[in-house]
Amino acid sequence: MDMNLSPEDLAFRDEVRTFLDAKLTDEIREGARLTPSVRSPMGPSRAWGKALADKGWLCHAWPAEYGGPGWNVVQRYIFELECALAGTPVLNHMGRKMVGPVVMKYGTQAQKDEYLPGILSDELIWCQGYSEPGAGSDLASLQTSAVSDGDDYIINGSKIWTTGAHQADHIFCLVRTSTEGKRQEGISFVLFPMESPGITVKPILTFAGDHDFNQVFFDNVRVPKANRIGDENKGWTVAKYLLEFERGGVFYSPQVRAGVEKLAYIAGQEPAGGGAKLIDDPGFRRKLADLEIQVSAAEMSEQRVMSTLSQGQNPGAASSIFKLRGSEIYQDMLEATMKAIAYYAAPYQPEAYIPGNNVDAIAPEYGIVASSQYFNQRAATIYAGSSEVQRTIIAKHVLGL
Ligand SMILES: Cc1cc2nc3c(=O)[nH]c(=O)nc-3n(C[C@H](O)[C@H](O)[C@H](O)COP(=O)(O)OP(=O)(O)OC[C@H]3O[C@@H](n4cnc5c(N)ncnc54)[C@H](O)[C@@H]3O)c2cc1C
Repeated sequence: MDMNLSPEDLAFRDEVRTFLDAKLTDEIREGARLTPSVRSPMGPSRAWGKALADKGWLCHAWPAEYGGPGWNVVQRYIFELECALAGTPVLNHMGRKMVGPVVMKYGTQAQKDEYLPGILSDELIWCQGYSEPGAGSDLASLQTSAVSDGDDYIINGSKIWTTGAHQADHIFCLVRTSTEGKRQEGISFVLFPMESPGITVKPILTFAGDHDFNQVFFDNVRVPKANRIGDENKGWTVAKYLLEFERGGVFYSPQVRAGVEKLAYIAGQEPAGGGAKLIDDPGFRRKLADLEIQVSAAEMSEQRVMSTLSQGQNPGAASSIFKLRGSEIYQDMLEATMKAIAYYAAPYQPEAYIPGNNVDAIAPEYGIVASSQYFNQRAATIYAGSSEVQRTIIAKHVLGL
């Protein structure tokens, strides 16, 4: 495929750059720089979400009929790359990237009217209730029960590793509505507010020290059946569709490309002995070149697959390839960054991650969150389905083995 940008694409890129220059305030940029984990500090992230929503660019992959900007795949790629290079905060993606497309495909008109506007405007923050203490890779073994009671379900059980549950307005949740027959055939997909009576959220800290995820307990939580997406006991189909978007609905490579560029910058600053810089070291240069090649290959694959899809459509099982390669290259890049900042990786200074702090950081600005990101992203090959699970999907559904 032709990777050269047309004059129209270049004009579009300029438009994006102008927007980023105008709307990325110092506070938002600082929040992005001080992102220690998969989530940016809430204030800058929400401010950036609002700036995008006001422009109509927040849900940039959505079809125009649902309020998306109607961009083609090259425009989407340009936008994501420019955002990554400019250093924008990580946005809460569970609404626009995950449950939004599901509501578009399986929701009733009333459900679309209820949920999509809040996602488009970034007012509704979501969390994902899939995993349970006994159900991760083997998701179909989930036990959280939803028992029919007139027009409602009564939900009992627990979800775990629920990212952002402590800040979310709503949860999309897999529940067991039948214990008959195959396990996959007794699951339903429901949405409900996190302030519903009977919900308790308990924090779980990562070994990097971040509070990203939680365990969520349901004690007789009453949820109207009208909140179910799709038919009763058909939630497995809905759940799998959402996972395709979670794993492959956006490009992975822009973030890694931006990370590799930052790595090259760091190597230009850090000493390598004898007055030389790390960037002059042949071993380091080989590593940088290796990362560049991996990112370029990932970019080509993503764009090739994405360009065959129509707007709002998802790459299906190919999303597992993106997820697998994207997460592995990302980890590789973060490991190289750790090595590049050398002893600056050692200090643990979480107070220096807080936007607006007056802490005298030990590391230079480019090293403040590097080790936190490295440790946090060890999880990248686990969340959204582990690498082993992605390899099985690729073997079965892409390679037909
Ligand atoms: C940072 C983070 C955020 C998360 N956020 C959320 C969230 O918001 N909502 C949510 O619902 N879940 C979330 N998860 C949970 C995530 O989806 C699960 O951790 C993941 O699916 C793996 O499940 P598990 O942890 O139970 O591990 P297990 O399924 O017990 O797997 C343990 C190991 O066995 C391997 N394994 C398991 N089965 C197979 C197999 N069939 N073949 C080969 N190897 C196998 C796995 O690859 C893994 O290495 C999050 C996880 C992390 C780490």
